[in-house]
Amino acid sequence: MELLKRFYGINSKSGGEDAIKGFFMEQLAGLELAVEEDAFGNIFITKGVADSYPGVTAHLDEVHAPSERNIVVDGDMIYAVDGCGERVGIGADDKNGLWIITRLLHTKPVLKVALFVQEERDGEMAGCRGSRACSLDFFNDVRYLLAVDRKGDSEVVTVGKGDIRLCDDAMFPIEVLQKYGYECVPGGRTDVVALKERGLQIPCCNISCGYYNAHKADEYTMFTHLEKALAFVDELLDKIV
Ligand SMILES: [Zn+2]
Repeated sequence: MELLKRFYGINSKSGGEDAIKGFFMEQLAGLELAVEEDAFGNIFITKGVADSYPGVTAHLDEVHAPSERNIVVDGDMIYAVDGCGERVGIGADDKNGLWIITRLLHTKPVLKVALFVQEERDGEMAGCRGSRACSLDFFNDVRYLLAVDRKGDSEVVTVGKGDIRLCDDAMFPIEVLQKYGYECVPGGRTDVVALKERGLQIPCCNISCGYYNAHKADEYTMFTHLEKALAFVDELLDKIV
């Protein structure tokens, strides 16, 4: 939980992702990885050498920019307050995704990771700016892309906003879905939806990673739900061919 609290303490308002990028990379010290950053600021990481790779993705930015953020742990629940004790968002959307991917990069021998900047809408600016600007070449040898950027603890989004089909629900082994209490559902707009709109051919989805009330001051995480999401994604990476 200490690592997660440190992620929450970093301000990563869209367009200001340098600090969280630096912190994320610090957590990977000692691992043998190929890391590229494109002109837009998106990060692409390859671990291992293989003919093809499973892929995971999360976004680096958050909607919040509080002047002060004191992290509070109340049993399983994690949230933050400012200096006056008022609730402020923690950016668990999508630092929970970053936390999961940090862990996976340590344990999985072969993995490709895309971390996008500027996923969130910002005033007049539409969201998914990083994923709409990147080259798709990184995904040429990626078999499928699992996003960890969904609220709650039980959903795999397989149809995105605009009726964009992200993948066939049948790609997820039913016994794995049942074991972790997940089901396939339609959902909103995220980076994988933007990538599919641009013509990315591989199956994609977006998986619940334990955050609630995203984009609101009373945003919080249930830590056991986040740990369950990590175990679920870890097992999917082993079981999806
Ligand atoms: Zn998000």
